[in-house]
Order: sequence, then structure tokens, then C-alpha cells
Amino acid sequence: MRLFVLGSGSRGNCCAVEAEGTALLLDAGFSAREVERRAEIAGLDLARVAGIALTHEHGDHACGAARLARRLRAPVLTATGTWGRLAGRMGAASYRAIGSQATLELGPFRLAACPTSHDAADPLALAVRTSDGTGLGVAYDLGRPTSAVRYLLRDLTALVLEANYDEVALRMSGYPPVVQRRIAGSGGHLSNRAAADLLTELHHPGLGVVVLAHLSQRCNTADDARATVAPALRRVGFGGTLHVAEQDEPLPAIDVRSPAQVQLRLAF
Ligand SMILES: [Zn+2]
Ligand SMILES: [Zn+2]
Repeated sequence: MRLFVLGSGSRGNCCAVEAEGTALLLDAGFSAREVERRAEIAGLDLARVAGIALTHEHGDHACGAARLARRLRAPVLTATGTWGRLAGRMGAASYRAIGSQATLELGPFRLAACPTSHDAADPLALAVRTSDGTGLGVAYDLGRPTSAVRYLLRDLTALVLEANYDEVALRMSGYPPVVQRRIAGSGGHLSNRAAADLLTELHHPGLGVVVLAHLSQRCNTADDARATVAPALRRVGFGGTLHVAEQDEPLPAIDVRSPAQVQLRLAF
């Protein structure tokens, strides 16, 4: 499995996974043209996209979905409530429901989901697995990490997890208290500290890739996020790679492998 982090932040989120020649978009929070530009830079062939999974309807996660679904002739995979909000704008795009009840199969991917605590219609965290046992989880806009999120994100090879704000930077941000409370509240976002705590809990020997995502431009920096999360991961023995997603440019493609698989490759 290869992971493409095309960009992440409050001005747009889009990742993709590719396995066995098939790709799946995970959110489409940039314009179709911008997703195409970034895919080209990252080396992702959009003609391989078999589906567009959406965590929720907010523009920074879904604004390019309608046009991309039409251009790529790919179904939108999302929760019923999210589709309800989007359907009027989706034209002839087809839709398959995902939710916490059942997994959805699409080409080589098995897609599972659970609800998240966020101020959207029917928001989801997503987990994508392939038959070789590799798995990727994506969770943004987590007001707080619920037990359902912890359960969904267990035993995965890679995690793309929100690290939205630094607690001190939020207090110094100049945002009015009511906005600060909304960001830090149970329908808002996860802090660097909360992301570090959740990653410590989710860590297992097979975790090979962590991507910190959805950083606030005003209340966070890549250095702050890394400085909070890296020591916490080191303490639990994380042997993989830690990345920080950027808002404006894609990351180079990431091979999703457990630390043991990397060791094995190095040995040969
Ligand atoms: Zn949102
Ligand atoms: Zn968001």
C-alpha cells in the first residue's frame, strides 16, 4: 500500500491510498483542478481512483468531491447523513453508504468507519485495509477521541491523525474565548498533546507510519507538532517514520509498511 498525502489543514484535506493498481481518495477538500495538480506532483495516477471516501461534508474535506466524482466516474463513499447534505450538489455522482455497521469492499480495499465527535451531519473516521494485512486509518476533526475511534484505529500500519493546535498557541492566538472553547471543545479539534496521548495508546509493534495532519495555521507549526508527538512515540518504542502533512504542497509518496517489513527489506 502506498499513501499519498496531497495536503492537509483548515484550507483543504486530501489523501489517497493505492494498492494493486487501484487508488482510493480519502477526502477531496481541494478543487478538482488542485487535486489534479497535486496528484501529478506526488506521482498519483488519478485514472486509477475507484472511489472517493469522505469523512464529512465540510468544505475543507469535500469541496472537490462533486467534480472529481464526475471526472473520475468514481462513486462517493460516505455516511448517509453526509450524503444527505451533499446530494444536491453532486449531480449524477453515485453513492455507496459507509457507516459503523458494516465494511465496504472496493477493489483491493476493505473500508471500515466509525462516528466522530464533530459539529457536522454524520462525521466519520476511516480505516482502509488490504488483504496482505496492511491498514491505514484517517481521523480528522476529532473533538475528542471516543472509544469507537480508538477501536477503529487499533492495529493499523499507518495513521493519519489530526494534530490541530498547540495549547499555548491557542491561548495566545487572539481568538475570542468562545472560539477557543469551540476549537478545544468536544465538537472541535484535537491538540498536539491529545494527538500524542492517543498515538501512545494506539502504538503497537506493527505501526510503521504516522502522519500528523490538519494543523491550524494560526495555532500550530510543524515543529511544535513534531516536538510534542515525537518524544511520546519514542517513549513507547515507535520504530516507524513520523511525517507532518503540509497545507500547500503534497508530501512525497509514503510506503506503508510495518517496521518489521522494513527490517526484512533491509536484510535482503
Ligand atoms: Zn469539519
Ligand atoms: Zn476539517
